[in-house]
Amino acid sequence: MPECPACGSAQTVKNGKAKNGTQTSLCKVCGRRFHPDAKPVAHSEATRTPILDAVHDRMSLRGVQRVFGVHRNTVIRWNKKGAAEVRQTVSVCLTPPEELVVELDELWTFVGQKKQPRWLWLALERRTRRVLAWVLCDRSEETAFTLWDCLPLSPEQCLKATFCTDLWRAYDEPLLGVKRLTRRGETNHVERLNCTLRQRLGRLDRKSLSFSKSDELLEASLTLAFHRYNLSR
Ligand SMILES: [Zn+2]
Repeated sequence: MPECPACGSAQTVKNGKAKNGTQTSLCKVCGRRFHPDAKPVAHSEATRTPILDAVHDRMSLRGVQRVFGVHRNTVIRWNKKGAAEVRQTVSVCLTPPEELVVELDELWTFVGQKKQPRWLWLALERRTRRVLAWVLCDRSEETAFTLWDCLPLSPEQCLKATFCTDLWRAYDEPLLGVKRLTRRGETNHVERLNCTLRQRLGRLDRKSLSFSKSDELLEASLTLAFHRYNLSR
């Protein structure tokens, strides 16, 4: 009998046919169900690029599977691997401190079900429109501090820069001592980015079935999305 791909045991038995008619096996030791005749497919860069482009322009994972014939789990694996390879955000902000305007905002989303909300905190640099930092967590002051710590700015840059936020009180403590504006319209650019994100990433949509099922995948998609976005700026 074929060896189990998970634990290597030879104690496997036939386990009926899959939907597409191929034979499946079952490992009696670890319970893994597998296709003994399946051969791993190596996808070339030329195949991967359009697929990943499509995923980052709103195509659903199941849509990719239907159109390109690549299994959604394969695409998920590429996403996780890609996210591990790219940096989260820009590491250095090159705008002169006097001209530095950072817009901060939060965007609501959820994982699995609406009862499990997540808040995506964003820091956008107005001149280059690049995302300086982002955090995915709750809406508390603690997360505001985390975002503040993630900013790639020196204390000198922070003192000269202007920070624009809404009136959410979680910003009060972290932004104590720096120039802060809460006027209407000062966060227009970051709010526009929120719209772009919701438009491009199906999983950030407010009313859809394509929401994230796990934090890990949401983080991976966002990492790649911001990486692509910053590269395009
Ligand atoms: Zn096994």
